[in-house]
Amino acid sequence: MAEGPQVHRIADALRRALASRILDEVQLIPARLRPLERSLVGRRVADVEARGKHLLIVLDRGLTLHSHLMMWGRWEISGPSEPPRKGTGRVWARLRAGTRVATLFNGPVLQLLSQEELATHPVLTALGPDPLRDDYRREDVLGRMQQPPWARISLAHALLDQRLFAGVGNIYKSEALWQARLHPLRTLDSLRPDERGRLVQAVESTLRTAYRQRFGTLPRRLWRTVGPFAVYRRSGQSCLWCGTTILRLDTGRATYFCPCCQPATAP
Ligand SMILES: [Zn+2]
Repeated sequence: MAEGPQVHRIADALRRALASRILDEVQLIPARLRPLERSLVGRRVADVEARGKHLLIVLDRGLTLHSHLMMWGRWEISGPSEPPRKGTGRVWARLRAGTRVATLFNGPVLQLLSQEELATHPVLTALGPDPLRDDYRREDVLGRMQQPPWARISLAHALLDQRLFAGVGNIYKSEALWQARLHPLRTLDSLRPDERGRLVQAVESTLRTAYRQRFGTLPRRLWRTVGPFAVYRRSGQSCLWCGTTILRLDTGRATYFCPCCQPATAP
């Protein structure tokens, strides 16, 4: 599943392929969008941006194509005559600008939004700050953390709520909590100010490292021996800091942590 760092990488690739170019050909497969195909042809792509796990292809004259890949979707860039890679799935959208083609496979979320719909979109407008965006402000997250919806929720759940941080998914949730040395079942209101600061910094550095390295959070030299992650899917193996066996916790989605470095109560 694509989390924030992967979606930002996809946005980079789509921007390189489409930005400032005019859409020469547009195919939208969802039946409800098909009537809009003709009105999209001839529009210029102004920009492509990621907001957390959401992808926005901003077109001129006030339209935005919004997609979310959930568990199965993927975007691919190709030349006009290149066939899609085998096993990629069902085509949902195909945008051609000159010699570059961007194809969305497997949806599942694709919407065409007017400026007003974008400004009032219930999910997009509720998104929390995204550490991979230029408009990210650490103070916004620290403020949100102290508000009622999250105060008594476990960290494992709070980090997956896109209204707190946009872009954290199941992998980077475990990695950030390990980095911050915080137990996944502690609640936000149990954190001391220094622990809150540590958590925010850990999420920022986890997402930024994953974006830079395209996937893993550990230094690349460790990928062959340890793997790309410190704790994610490493239950039964040793913690890199203390050697204690990493555990897997069922919090709805699996959470991986070190019981020694991440004690259940504040030290
Ligand atoms: Zn440890």
